[in-house]
Amino acid sequence: MSTDAPQSASSSPIIERIAARRAAIGGSITVQRVLPVRERRTIGAWCFLDHAGPAEFEAGAGMRVAPHPHIGLQTFTWLIEGEVLHRDSLGNAQVIRPGQVNLMTAGRGIAHSEESLPGERRLHAAQLWIALPESVADCAPAFEHYPVLPAWEQGGCRLTLLAGSYGGHIAPTRLYSPLVGIDLFSPYGAATRLPLDPAFEYGILPLAGEIHLSGQRFAADELAYLGRGRQAIGLDLVPGTRLLLIGGEPLGEEIVIWWNFVGHSKAGIAQAQHDWESGMDGGSERFGRVIGYEGAPLTAPPLPWAKA
Ligand code: MN
Repeated sequence: MSTDAPQSASSSPIIERIAARRAAIGGSITVQRVLPVRERRTIGAWCFLDHAGPAEFEAGAGMRVAPHPHIGLQTFTWLIEGEVLHRDSLGNAQVIRPGQVNLMTAGRGIAHSEESLPGERRLHAAQLWIALPESVADCAPAFEHYPVLPAWEQGGCRLTLLAGSYGGHIAPTRLYSPLVGIDLFSPYGAATRLPLDPAFEYGILPLAGEIHLSGQRFAADELAYLGRGRQAIGLDLVPGTRLLLIGGEPLGEEIVIWWNFVGHSKAGIAQAQHDWESGMDGGSERFGRVIGYEGAPLTAPPLPWAKA
């Protein structure tokens, strides 16, 4: 991944089809990486989106992501199936179960690991990153687990509000910029109309099943980028469809995404890489240490640009 030129949000309603690409994470799990891709880096402050599963695996062969650092972002984990243990360098050890969100604010620096529980044989999840605005990017790290989120039925669909506010509901998840995130599941299929905020840009990602919007079909892991300026979007969903709707005010800042870091300068990213690599053995002063994970932490790759 490289430096991102600011990528404009479309100021008018459009429909852009963006295919995910496969990426390996730890353990036997491959994911569909939806953001960032060449055609689109951000939707609001959402700057990363991995869709894991639905996957079935032998017990003990699930997700296993060794301790690694983050800065300048929030990791936002939405679990649909399976059980995943999160540990971090603040001392948190938290199992996340279906219907729950883990939200880790990296700020100036944190390290964490994620692993399927030993007897677990399934995984279906989305992990997103939210870029922190420059004014709070160096904030103290924090971790929050949200076991219950607002959920309701609407037009033959079950909606769960993951982030922001929608339809009179307010999600408890702590945000630093105007965003929304919704999981929508339709067991029997539906034709539905979702009100939108014209100031937000939006993306819709089917996680299972398929949708039709404006005469176009989108299957699982095909992102429909909708731009801005819409009052609503009409959708047809086949039975068993689950989708994510994410949106937000376009990010007004240039960001640099590299490895597990989000920053506002290459120098800031280079410093984080140095701080992680120089503290690997005994834990790092900046990132701390993840206690309890069996195995070595991840090593940062070399920086893709020449040292300034
Ligand atoms: Mn991570």
